Amino acid sequence: MSSTTKTTTPIPLSSKRAGRFDPKAKTACIRTFGCQMNVHDSDRIRRMIQDAGYAEVQRYEDADLVILNTCYVRENAVDRVKGHLGELNRLRREGRVKRVALTGCIGAAEESAALRQTYEIDLVLGTHNTYELAEFVGLPTMQETYTPELPGTEGGHNAFVTIMTGCNYQCSYCIVPTVRGRMVCRPMESVIGEVENLVAGGTGYITLLGQTVDAWRHEGKRFCDLLEAVSESAPRVWFTTSHPSNMEDRTLNAIGERDTIVKRLHLPVQSGSDRMLKVMHRGYKAEKYRRKIEVFREAAPDGTLSTDIIVGHPGETEEDHEQTLRLVEDCAFDSAYIFKFSPRRGTEAASLPETVPDAVVQRRFLEVLRQVEQNAFTRNQRKVGGEEEIYIRHGSTEDGKAIGETWSGHAVHVNTDAAPGTYVKARIESAGPHVLYAGETGTRA
Ligand code: SAM
Ligand code: SF4
Repeated sequence: MSSTTKTTTPIPLSSKRAGRFDPKAKTACIRTFGCQMNVHDSDRIRRMIQDAGYAEVQRYEDADLVILNTCYVRENAVDRVKGHLGELNRLRREGRVKRVALTGCIGAAEESAALRQTYEIDLVLGTHNTYELAEFVGLPTMQETYTPELPGTEGGHNAFVTIMTGCNYQCSYCIVPTVRGRMVCRPMESVIGEVENLVAGGTGYITLLGQTVDAWRHEGKRFCDLLEAVSESAPRVWFTTSHPSNMEDRTLNAIGERDTIVKRLHLPVQSGSDRMLKVMHRGYKAEKYRRKIEVFREAAPDGTLSTDIIVGHPGETEEDHEQTLRLVEDCAFDSAYIFKFSPRRGTEAASLPETVPDAVVQRRFLEVLRQVEQNAFTRNQRKVGGEEEIYIRHGSTEDGKAIGETWSGHAVHVNTDAAPGTYVKARIESAGPHVLYAGETGTRA
């Protein structure tokens, strides 16, 4: 099992929200597990099923076709999918669900063969052949093998744009290179073209996506060139995920200098110990990471910094753990995704000796978590009393609170009925370790 300090909303086995649908129409339900890459792939899948005449529904029991778009990064992700497949088998026996497709990272892994033996699954697709779903849902066969060229989200107030797929690193613990393959970078003109279309269609916030976005290279251009060009075309831009070895000072300075780039950096460090960074094949030392953070803090003093940390990788000693705690304190992260090591079959770390006992992993997890939360709380307190321009990401719920984001990348709960995609100005009244709280909005920005 692994855990994070931030979790996505748990996906219920079948959503309680009743889907409104025409009982005669073909219906499909898509469930997405895992990271933003998968959320983006689901947007593409959604386009395909809509083109094929399916109405999207929220509950499995209303769906003719269920598509599980899956994550394979940690073991508990597979366990969750097994729970959903068991539920779908039951609904199938009752004659409700007719077909099940498994896509995404589990689909690309060996594990999918075992799942197919245990559960009734009609179609298994990996991450490189999602386009084959077209034929399965009754559309003409598609030729694309290069998924970034497929249309993504269109017209939403915020959109992901994939700039590269795969990863050329070989981190000891990670299954991503196996299931997503080597890095393929999308041409600059193609990215800019998509961004311009999205912006013309009303999208106000673009997130550039990839496993190591800052490794993007194409015909002599580097990531910072692409980021600068996108920041000239789009009113608001962010990017994730970056790798410390590829992060250039130029990019960190651009974050500080360019008004349209959100001052929020997600730079996974994984460990504060040079010994562990070497075992993990991360390709940098803790000191280099610290230097990058100094440049970022100088470029964007008010900005937010987040990271990924793995605790309990095989061979991690108490001294290694102490060094991680020290790095967490020095970098004063605003948030962190903290993962307990999860052995993934087919990765180097899965067969390494010197595994760390569960109780030790749990204690280290809590120690890192406490350290991150203390820092985050202290930093967030500094925002109290200030007025912020807030981008509304999700409109208000029944309690009248919308969820927004400041230009510094802080998440804010704000009292407003403003629509998603618009800006409001409000004063920050209080702060917790994860979120700021703003009062009534003054002006619409
Ligand atoms: N490409 C990004 C990078 O290198 O930083 C991260 C991609 S991975 C999908 C997201 C995070 O999951 C990683 O940064 C790592 O902290 C965590 N992770 C990956 N494999 C893991 C494993 N086997 N056990 C625990 N955490 C893992
Ligand atoms: Fe996985 Fe490492 Fe590639 Fe990130 S850089 S996707 S952790 S192999």
